[in-house]
Amino acid sequence: MEPTISDPWGDRFSEAERALLAPFVTDVDAPVFGLRNLPDVVCGALFSRYSRSDKSLRRILLDEFIQAPEADFHAIVALSADAAAHQIVAVHRAEAFYERVLIGYGDDSVAELGGAHVACEGVSNIAAKALEDSRIGISPLEKSTRYVAFNRKVEGRYRYLREAAIMASRHARAYETAMDTLFDTYSALIEPTLAAVRARTPREPGVSERAYASATRARTFDLLRGLLPMATLTNVGLFGNGRAFEYLLTKLYASPLAELQALATALQRALDDQIPSFVKRAKSERGRAYQAYLRETRQEVQTLAAAAAHRLAEVDSASPDVTLVAFDPDADIRVVAAILYPHLDSSLADTRALAEAMTADERMRLIRAYAGRRASRFHRPGRAFEEARYTFDLLADIGAYRDLQRHRMLTQERQRFGVQHGYVVPPEIDEYGLGAPFRAALDQAGEVVSAIAADLPEEAQYAVPFAYRVRWRVTLNLREAYHLCELRSAPQGHPGYRRIAQEMYRQIAAVHPLLAEGMRFVDMNDYALERLDAERRLDEKRRKLSEEQQVNE
Ligand SMILES: Cc1cc2nc3c(=O)[nH]c(=O)nc-3n(C[C@H](O)[C@H](O)[C@H](O)COP(=O)(O)OP(=O)(O)OC[C@H]3O[C@@H](n4cnc5c(N)ncnc54)[C@H](O)[C@@H]3O)c2cc1C
Repeated sequence: MEPTISDPWGDRFSEAERALLAPFVTDVDAPVFGLRNLPDVVCGALFSRYSRSDKSLRRILLDEFIQAPEADFHAIVALSADAAAHQIVAVHRAEAFYERVLIGYGDDSVAELGGAHVACEGVSNIAAKALEDSRIGISPLEKSTRYVAFNRKVEGRYRYLREAAIMASRHARAYETAMDTLFDTYSALIEPTLAAVRARTPREPGVSERAYASATRARTFDLLRGLLPMATLTNVGLFGNGRAFEYLLTKLYASPLAELQALATALQRALDDQIPSFVKRAKSERGRAYQAYLRETRQEVQTLAAAAAHRLAEVDSASPDVTLVAFDPDADIRVVAAILYPHLDSSLADTRALAEAMTADERMRLIRAYAGRRASRFHRPGRAFEEARYTFDLLADIGAYRDLQRHRMLTQERQRFGVQHGYVVPPEIDEYGLGAPFRAALDQAGEVVSAIAADLPEEAQYAVPFAYRVRWRVTLNLREAYHLCELRSAPQGHPGYRRIAQEMYRQIAAVHPLLAEGMRFVDMNDYALERLDAERRLDEKRRKLSEEQQVNE
């Protein structure tokens, strides 16, 4: 069966609107399309709107850029429609020439010299995670479950993937019923949750209604996101270079899921209109061999792992959420040697011997000097801190996983989304008296997941709500731990991942107190309204900007 991509947001454009859009997108209709003929800053601004908007990117481009007088769009983008219309044709016509010059050069890294902006609309959260499971070379931006309500219906139907294999199976009805119940419950709980949040944390004097409304809405959506299933459709914008896209395409083509295979084809089409020479290999004979390699090794290892699995005890879901499984016992020697190394002429072996011969006090002084007087979390210690590595086993709700997965510098891999580890209901939901419908919807989905998993284990993942827990492993170095623990414990973060970041910090500090000493910006407090301070700062920025504009006028 030919996999299909669902129609995303039911947006319809008039002929006049299509004509306005055409010069700037590689396709006016396809859910996966590239941006073209736009300055990078406009592409960046457009993608950043994904985070807080329920609209399609083409609608945002029309309403908030092309047709918004204050955007001064036509002054920024001086391009005739005719010239733009010929551009894609020209790219394809010149392809052979560029290929000779570029790929003929024989160096893979040449494909990093061109980049593209691509919008992937109406993709499931399973697909969003696959797109974002990329490291350096791809920069994703995704519609946020914190700022956008996910209960809009298009043509009377909630926006979740009716996954082809599930819909063709005996589970189709139960799947749709459970997904609809999740979205109905999410929808029905928005107003009572918002009212309870507002009652619990009344507006203080000096806080604007705008800041308070934003912070309380964000809190509400944070509390309810556990009801959303992985099938929930979302938007992801990607900026990346050709080489990173080639690998991403290869992985998607090799996926066992039909949605991801279809996404690979759609993504390839959009990239072929922008940087064809750089992504061509993903579908070449060489690319297909690579896909086969990925597919075959996965299948073979899966068979071996399944054969070994019976020697395991029962699934243990009672283990702690954050477990430091491994760390370097000689981390401070390794770090001290790496600190000294660029300042000496000796070999690494001799430098290490010197580090070992130093007194603990001398080593302490050196590590403290290296971490230095950090005035903010943006002051990062250097690469010597990459010598200390930590491996964590994490077990947390999928909502928290979705956020932490975004750290590209980590080595991380998850297990299948499922329901065997139970779910997490935010305590406030019970305190507000809303626990019963919340749990009922999760339980119903849980039963459906188990039933589907017996026949379609990969596809069953679509039915798993974000409140269910998933296990994943993370290996990170100390330098990245500084970044992650400080960023992800910031007051405006979601409580789910703030707690994990705080706990990771605690466990690193327990084994390496001196190395963790410089992590001064980990925030260990709890907050009732995470977004409020950030919204207050936004008010302040807006006020200053409008004052500056008045001065300039
Ligand atoms: C409060 C909060 C709200 C958020 N809201 C949203 C949202 O609404 N939508 C959304 O999509 N995401 C959101 N994010 C996620 C965010 O966009 C990042 O994906 C996430 O913080 C991880 O990326 P990072 O750059 O911080 O760290 P890592 O990916 O771990 O990278 C570590 C560091 O390496 C460097 N680096 C990594 N990759 C590159 C690169 N390609 N080019 C240059 N330097 C690089 C940077 O210095 C980076 O800080 C949010 C994050 C936070 C903390």
